[in-house]
Amino acid sequence: MKKLAIIGVTGSIGRQAVDVIEKYPERFSLTMISAHSDKEKLIEIAERHKVPVVCFTGKIPFHASELSYPCTVITGDSALSVASEKADYDVFLNAVVGIAALEPTLIAMKKGARIALSNKEMLVCAGEYVMAQAQKLKSEIIPVDSEHSAIFQCLSAGRKQDVDRLIITSSGGAFRDIPLAELDNIAPERALAHPNWNMGKKITIDCATMVNKGFEVIEAKYLFDIPFDRIDAVLHRESIVHSMVRFRDGSTVAQLSDPDMRLPIQYALTYPERIPSPVASPVIPYSLTFAPVDEKRYPCFGLMLEAGRLGGLYPAALLAADSVLVPAYLEGKIKYSDIPRILSCVLENFSLSGSYDLVDVLNINSDVEKYTRKVVAL
Ligand code: NDP
Ligand code: MG
Repeated sequence: MKKLAIIGVTGSIGRQAVDVIEKYPERFSLTMISAHSDKEKLIEIAERHKVPVVCFTGKIPFHASELSYPCTVITGDSALSVASEKADYDVFLNAVVGIAALEPTLIAMKKGARIALSNKEMLVCAGEYVMAQAQKLKSEIIPVDSEHSAIFQCLSAGRKQDVDRLIITSSGGAFRDIPLAELDNIAPERALAHPNWNMGKKITIDCATMVNKGFEVIEAKYLFDIPFDRIDAVLHRESIVHSMVRFRDGSTVAQLSDPDMRLPIQYALTYPERIPSPVASPVIPYSLTFAPVDEKRYPCFGLMLEAGRLGGLYPAALLAADSVLVPAYLEGKIKYSDIPRILSCVLENFSLSGSYDLVDVLNINSDVEKYTRKVVAL
C-alpha cells in the first residue's frame, strides 16, 4: 500500500488523481491533502478517505470540528510546509498552481518521498536550484505534465548520451485557427474552450497564448538536463502524440494515448509498474499531423524561450508577470494582446542574469507581480 500526499487536491489534476486512486483502493491510501479555497471539496475528499492530515491554506477559517473523524488540520500561511513536514507519505503529488508549493516540495524531497510533479511553475522559476537539490538528495522526480511524462517514457528506449533532440508537441490551444486580426481583443471565454484538454483556467489560457509551451520547454531543459537548442516544439493538433525523443541513430520514439491526464498521473504513481487505466488508447493511430509553431500567432512562446535562454531569474520574472496577467485578462481588465506586450516590458525592464537562491526567487516574484499590477492598472 503506497501512502500518498496530494497537494492541490481540489484542482483539475488533484481531482483526477483522486479518481485514479479510487479505482485502486488496495494500492493507495491518502495520508495528506491540501486546498486553498474549495473547503467543501476538501472536506468531501477528506471524509471519503479519512485522510489523517488535512491542510487548508485559504483565508477563511477551517477547524478540525468540521470533519467527522479525528485528524490533524493545519491552516495558516506556512500550513503547506508544516503539513508536508508532519505527514507520512511515500509519494508526494504536487498539483498546486503557482509557486506556493516550492518549499513544501523541497521538504518532501528531503523526506525521501517520490515527487510526482504536475506543478510546472517550480521548475520554471527555480529549475536549476530544484534539480541541484534533487541530485544532492537523490530524489526521484516523476513528471506528470503529459509532454514530460511522454519524454520520460521515451527516454527509456535509449541511453541519455545517445539522445539527439526532445520534440515537445503542442495542440496550439483555443486560438490556433482564429484569424490573427481577431486575436487582439478576443474574449476570455473563447480562450477557455480548449479543443482537446479539460484543465484549470490558468493553464488553459497559458495554452492559448503558448506561454505554457514556453514553460514546458524550460521544464524539459531542467528535468532532463538537455540544452535549449536541442529541444523543439511542434504543433500537433490531435494531442495523441504527447512528445517524442530522437536518438542519434535517427530513430524517433513517441508516446501515444488519448488526451486524458489520468494516464500520466497514474504512471507517476505506479512507475515502473503499468496497470490498467480508464484511458482509451488509439490501437490504430488516427491521422496525425505536425506543423511548425507560427511565431506571429504565439509571440508569448518566443518571449518565454528568450527568458529561458537568458536564464537566471528571467523565467521566474515572466512567470510572475503571467500570474498577474492571466487573471487580469479573465476579469476583462486587459486585452489578449496586452499579455505579450507586458511580458516583453518585463524582459526589457529587469536585469536578472546570474545565479540565485530561493530568497531571490521569492523576491523577484513579488517585485515583478507588483510591477505588473501597476502596469495593468494604468
Ligand atoms: P487548478 O487551478 O485546477 O488547481 C489548483 C490547485 O491548487 C487547487 O487545489 C487550488 O486550491 C490550489 N491552490 C491554488 N492556489 C494556491 C495557493 N496559493 N496555495 C496553495 N494551494 C493553492 O490547476 P490545475 O490542476 O490545472 O494545475 C495544477 C498544476 O499542474 C499547475 O502547475 C499546472 O500548470 C499543472 N498542469 C496541469 C494540467 C492539467 O491538465 N490541468 C496538465 C499539466 C500540468 P482550491 O481549488 O481549493 O482553490
Ligand atoms: Mg503539458
